[in-house]
Amino acid sequence: MKSINEAQMKGKRVLVRVDYNVPLNEQFEVTDATRIIRTIDTVKKITGEGGIAILMSHLGRPKGVASDKFSLKHIVGKASEVLGTPVTFLGDVLDTETEKRVAALKPGDVALLENLRFHNEEEGGDENFAKAISRLGDLYVNDAFGTAHRAHASTATITKFFPGKCYAGYLLYEEASNLDLVLNNAAHPFTAIIGGSKISTKLNIITFLLEKVDNLIIAGGMSYTFLHAMGVKIGNSLLEEDMIPVAKEIINKAHLKGVDIYFPIDNICADKFDNNANQYITTHNDIPEGWEGMDIGPRTIQKFASIIKTAKTILWNGPVGVYEFPNFENGTHSVALCVSVATISGAFSLIGGADYVSYISTGGGAMLEYLEGKELPGIKALNEDK
Ligand code: AMP
Repeated sequence: MKSINEAQMKGKRVLVRVDYNVPLNEQFEVTDATRIIRTIDTVKKITGEGGIAILMSHLGRPKGVASDKFSLKHIVGKASEVLGTPVTFLGDVLDTETEKRVAALKPGDVALLENLRFHNEEEGGDENFAKAISRLGDLYVNDAFGTAHRAHASTATITKFFPGKCYAGYLLYEEASNLDLVLNNAAHPFTAIIGGSKISTKLNIITFLLEKVDNLIIAGGMSYTFLHAMGVKIGNSLLEEDMIPVAKEIINKAHLKGVDIYFPIDNICADKFDNNANQYITTHNDIPEGWEGMDIGPRTIQKFASIIKTAKTILWNGPVGVYEFPNFENGTHSVALCVSVATISGAFSLIGGADYVSYISTGGGAMLEYLEGKELPGIKALNEDK
């Protein structure tokens, strides 16, 4: 994979796949600009060398239909502010006017195309669509780690049309380097914290991590299937029945491999799935009927803290409770704090795809697949370009 440092960009139109899939409020204002901020270095590198940066992204899930709601025009103001230069909105990639607007751009300019997912061909990885995008640029840069695990037109197919001229932006390069470090050179103890709602979506990463880590902390909604498999009463907590045998197998494997596996030892429960539900803190693991586990309890926080504190490498993916509800966010925030403290004390920590610590993450799904050893289409396409 070639980094953008190797590109000759002077006077060139540089098509950059970014991940500006940012959250918007009801007034269509960007509420978290992290993903834009993380592209500053790449964009400045291009404009600083006299290139023209033509940014392209998706936003939300418009499912192939153009709509005002999912228009990237809402991002233009924030992008201009963050990138410190006016960003020209180009309109739809297939529009003939767009070509004219691109032709009018000057070295050092920054422009943004309309949401690529207004065309189903984007997610379909369509070759004609990729070719149509490619007519607007002389070079291709991928800086969208968050979508690198998808073989879409703008992340993978497009590289065919830029032979020898495909580069990784700084963000993508940095993300891949950090993950490589964890994959190949992790310092020990290596502690992984896996939370979130379902075992099924994280099974591969858990299986993979059992080969690498010293400590595996499993929390969040998925932990209740494990606890149930161990004979603990889980009341109305999340349960994936079909994953019970898998959960047992993971526990056995951890023992065989000498991995210390930890689950919540107390729970903050609710009588319904609601921020304002009545709360009940269990003294131990068992959750009575009529209650569901929503967050880890104080004893669990203490236990997890003592493990995280001594780690030299930390990988975290998935919240340990329903952090979207302020009354059940404490566990996740406490874990974030522990990870920060360990990091300040010298641990290397990597957190993926997490809104609860959005300053660190850009790609949750991509991070998991990369760590499982899968070759991400967006990265493979860059690797294959010699
Ligand atoms: P994931 O995308 O798999 O990382 O899952 C994230 C989701 O898991 C978040 O929306 C959380 O609200 C949810 N979650 C975490 N803990 C629990 C829990 N104890 N019960 C239900 N959902 C949970």
